[in-house]
Amino acid sequence: MTLPYAEPYRIKMVEPIYQSTKEERQKWIKEAEYNLFNLKSDQVYIDLLTDSGTGAMSDKQWAEVMLGDESYAGSRSFQKLDKAVKDITRYNYFIPTHQGRAAENVLFSAMVKEGDIIPGNSHFDTTKGHIEFRKGKAIDCTIDEAFDTDIYHPFKGNIDLVKLETVFKENDISTIPFIIITVTCNTAGGQPVSMENIKAVSRMCKSYGVPVLFDAARYAENCYFIKEREEEYRTKEIIDIAREMYSYGDGMTMSSKKDGLVNMGGIIALNDESIYRTAITFNIMYEGFITYGGMSGRDMGALAVGLYEALEYDYLASRITQVQYLGEKMAEFGVPVQKPIGGHAVYLDANKFVPTIPKEEYRAQALAIELYIVAGIRGVEIGTVLADRDPITRENRYPALELVRLAIPRRTYTHNHMEYVAAALKTIFDSRDQAKSGYRITWEAPIMRHFTAQFEKV
Ligand SMILES: *Cc1c(COP(=O)(O)O)cnc(C)c1O
Repeated sequence: MTLPYAEPYRIKMVEPIYQSTKEERQKWIKEAEYNLFNLKSDQVYIDLLTDSGTGAMSDKQWAEVMLGDESYAGSRSFQKLDKAVKDITRYNYFIPTHQGRAAENVLFSAMVKEGDIIPGNSHFDTTKGHIEFRKGKAIDCTIDEAFDTDIYHPFKGNIDLVKLETVFKENDISTIPFIIITVTCNTAGGQPVSMENIKAVSRMCKSYGVPVLFDAARYAENCYFIKEREEEYRTKEIIDIAREMYSYGDGMTMSSKKDGLVNMGGIIALNDESIYRTAITFNIMYEGFITYGGMSGRDMGALAVGLYEALEYDYLASRITQVQYLGEKMAEFGVPVQKPIGGHAVYLDANKFVPTIPKEEYRAQALAIELYIVAGIRGVEIGTVLADRDPITRENRYPALELVRLAIPRRTYTHNHMEYVAAALKTIFDSRDQAKSGYRITWEAPIMRHFTAQFEKV
């Protein structure tokens, strides 16, 4: 008999979470103008809004917090982090920043100018934002399979080599400062990129003289998928898979709030000395001195430890298994979820779940609200509300997929919590025919409306 999976840690400190009543939640969500971002965290029982900065630190990380050296320049905590980043990535230079988008801001200030083109696999919103803010253009070269939720492909984050080469051939190559490989591909649902693909992309980029950067927020999870799904890597250590992956690139930016296993922080690592020199000036202007870049000493110490913990096989196996377990349990109940299940989140397909609600009444938002009212679980809408209005016509844009994302924080919730989430969704799914109406927007901001929009029931 194979034994079931269980967490490779036990709990030393607990944080109580309040199990409210349905009546309380109905009142609170109304007061929050039916926007889940407006809820107070105490009003949420299981918070699956994001896996960014919401994980639990280990005893060893907390010990580093106590050892934090808060010297302005050259602190011991910086040295620990500097050593860890270079040991894992094998890149020559490291710059700390306060979070992932800050790393993008600093590095892109040194590398991106007006008219530049940056191909990649479904760039993350902040990455795209920092490219477009500099009047550059992000071109999505993800394989077509990524856009069909019913197709099984082990590496839906892969870059399509034909699409990439077309971008290289159709543009002046000097306008392409680098390409970005996002591992795992967040926008495509936490889908991994294969080593085979990374290698092939790297080879092509070399032949055109274009550097390769990684957006490495969830690189450890990506390396786990490589180990599980690519025969050649079955017996390799995760850290060696990571080193090999980085060897095919020239640098990386990373949000430490994901696979850094800390609550705040960001990383830039790269090989090119002249880019490093330009970037550190921007780091000093935007973030702080080059040996802290917006992080306190204690945070850098905890990150130095977290980077290694995130590469431990047992940790990754339990992390990914928990996410897969939740997704498969829901699929078993018949709840429509996006497949295959990605590394950090389960996505509910609201078009299939509640087709009875008119799409003009924000199906995914309605489903996310219902999940909160029924069970105190907070997910996030990734559908029409997020897609916003067309900037010219001001009409709502209706994306192909109306999703509710349930992102799982690292080392935070137990197996029972996952059972609870799956059962709550089954309850809602079983009475889905009664869902006839959704919500209308009563107020919205001119851009990025999803964070602050106000709704009322139709
Ligand atoms: C979270 C994230 C970022 C941005 O990082 P922040 O720490 O939130 O600023 C960039 N890329 C990817 C893939 C991410 O998931």
